[in-house]
Amino acid sequence: MGLSKKRSGLSIIDDLGVIPLINAGGPFTKISGSRPRSEAIEAMEAMSEVFVDMEELLLAAGERIAEITGNEAATVTSGASGGLVVQAAAAMAKDDPERIAQLPITDGMPSELIIQRGHRFIYDHLYLAAGSRFCEVGRPTDCTIDEIEAAITPKTAGLIHLESPFKSDVAVSLTELAELAHSHGLPVLADCASMLPPRENLTKYTGQGADLVSFSGGKAIRGPQSTGFLIGKTEWIEYARLNNAPNPGVTRAQKVSKEEIAGLLAALEVFTSIDEEAETRNYRAQMSFIVDQIAEIPGIIVNVEHNYDHYIPHAVVTFAENWKGPSYTEIADRMKTAVPRVYVTVDYRVPARKMWIDPLNIQDGELEIVAEQFRKILIEGASGK
Ligand SMILES: *Cc1c(COP(=O)(O)O)cnc(C)c1O
Repeated sequence: MGLSKKRSGLSIIDDLGVIPLINAGGPFTKISGSRPRSEAIEAMEAMSEVFVDMEELLLAAGERIAEITGNEAATVTSGASGGLVVQAAAAMAKDDPERIAQLPITDGMPSELIIQRGHRFIYDHLYLAAGSRFCEVGRPTDCTIDEIEAAITPKTAGLIHLESPFKSDVAVSLTELAELAHSHGLPVLADCASMLPPRENLTKYTGQGADLVSFSGGKAIRGPQSTGFLIGKTEWIEYARLNNAPNPGVTRAQKVSKEEIAGLLAALEVFTSIDEEAETRNYRAQMSFIVDQIAEIPGIIVNVEHNYDHYIPHAVVTFAENWKGPSYTEIADRMKTAVPRVYVTVDYRVPARKMWIDPLNIQDGELEIVAEQFRKILIEGASGK
């Protein structure tokens, strides 16, 4: 056999007839997440050389993640979504082997999860996958702690908290929710999947009292796309681990390979040790370049934004009242049907109120292409084409 020649990514997709895209939209799963760090890829390849007992590896990896992130305990999951299924299973079955084996049939165990209506969002059905049911409280735009307390019954297994730009502004803080939950002996299950960076958030939500917090490993941490992890209290992390793959049970389809575990650890080490400020400055400079390229177009308001809704600096575009061109969605569609295909992000809310460019996945040499194409399509739109 001859030496195998290293293949390029382009040759692999070309062979399949799949067209590449420029990802200026951010780490969304549908546009292939984020680019795994080279350290993660190297660790995955190296890990493929050895065999281990997966329970031992998962326990050790959990301890390492806890150490790196500054938390009491942690465990690996298949994405943040997988973490939500595990959270629900842990809340219902805890460490009871019979209950663990019984799920998703919840007969005889507390199985309701209280969720504020303003915390409902597109992925929350994962909480139901293990067999639980929601008890919804409040209104889409607000909720009171008394309403939550009134909803607690012997059937309650846990209280859900969402931290995300998807969330509407609601009145109950995580700290308040956690105090209430703990006074009833219940856990707070938090989905904070995309709230990184800043890395200080790795301890923020556990610090505010959440018992289990789910994060993605495949977004800005830039580990393997399919990874995630839970951090939290030792007791609840142990329940989570017992309810998680590779153990038999309702989460068995969510297994994570030893290579992915090693890749996640390597990525997390880098994510927590790099110069976050320098990286932010660099993203800001890139986004300022985009702003400069399109700011003069009539009807366009564009700014670099870095806040709760924008985890790293984004170039955010809104249309002024005098904008006569197509909608945000139409502009985004024109970007992705152009050559080359460029994906940008349109506001999740309906109707959309803004669109933006996310620099996380823009590779060397692509920024100019993104700017040029965005400029061209916005100018066409502004002139009524
Ligand atoms: C991205 C995201 C998820 C899903 O995370 P994966 O790691 O892709 O499974 C879940 N919840 C929220 C709020 C998210 O932003």
